[in-house]
Amino acid sequence: MIKLDAMENPYDLPEQLRHDWLQHLAGVNLNRYPDADMLPLRRKIAKRDGVDPEQVLLGNGSDEIIQMLLLATNPGTCVVPRPTFVMYDMISRWLKRPVASAPLRADFSLDADHFLQVCAREKAEIAFLACPNNPTGNLWDEETISRIARGLNGQLVIDEAYGPFAERAHTHLISSNVMVLRTFSKLGWAGLRLGYLLGDADQIAHLNKVRMPYNINALTQASAEFLLDHFDVFEQQAAVIRSERERLHKALARIKALTVFPSQTNFLLVRVPDAAAVFTGLKQAGILIKSMHGADPMLAQCVRITVGTTEENDAVIAALKEMSL
Ligand code: PMP
Repeated sequence: MIKLDAMENPYDLPEQLRHDWLQHLAGVNLNRYPDADMLPLRRKIAKRDGVDPEQVLLGNGSDEIIQMLLLATNPGTCVVPRPTFVMYDMISRWLKRPVASAPLRADFSLDADHFLQVCAREKAEIAFLACPNNPTGNLWDEETISRIARGLNGQLVIDEAYGPFAERAHTHLISSNVMVLRTFSKLGWAGLRLGYLLGDADQIAHLNKVRMPYNINALTQASAEFLLDHFDVFEQQAAVIRSERERLHKALARIKALTVFPSQTNFLLVRVPDAAAVFTGLKQAGILIKSMHGADPMLAQCVRITVGTTEENDAVIAALKEMSL
């Protein structure tokens, strides 16, 4: 199958880099527990992102950090836009935390005033904004995000999982109640499971209390330290994915029956005449995508297609053109 359902980077490590990485891993001691504090790794990440190592919290994927945030903050309501990434809502429910949502407008833009009204009404303890948003793919405008950051009377988490594919980042908004969540998953290390949170040092120290002692295993730590020294490889791959996204967008927009929404991520949200038929048709052509139909009324007849390699994207374009839509 051509796997375009999970927003992964379609490119694996270049051969020489893979060889050097495996040699680096040969030096890892498996009989010892991993470094619990991970200062060398936090230093490397902090340097890249222009913060202090005390401002970095590491998680087993950003999913684990969402869980830590919901465990460590006071048990008030969690507010999210709708539709958005499902884990904010799911983990809140697991932890018996109330969740409230503010619907996006029909064009998937976010009404900052309405969002803040919902937060005030629900006495929000925490709010998540995926910037850019999954599954809609768009990035809300700067003024909207900074108004929510200024106006919220609780913790705001700006989730930049798709930041590497977007035109702007939000670290300048970090304050005592605003944090930025990032992950290496979409950049090519989904299998490593490494995400991180950037925030005020006091907030990070507080959150660190609920972090499991050895949450990042020794192989992931060693791999990340090695791969961060070769980060240009992944930045170049992200640049290729961004340009492929534009090409795929243009090609699919030419197919009359499709509505392709603007994207600042590594996937496209596409409205089709019949999401189930498109899902099945592409599966028969050996391509796996995600149907979003049923996830939310705003996503009726929508599918989400991860941007793949040039050949994979060509296969999607050809298969959709062949289908009688
Ligand atoms: N945030 C958003 C917005 C996502 O879409 C995802 C993955 N789909 C994640 C966080 C979780 O990523 P990971 O746990 O792999 O870091």
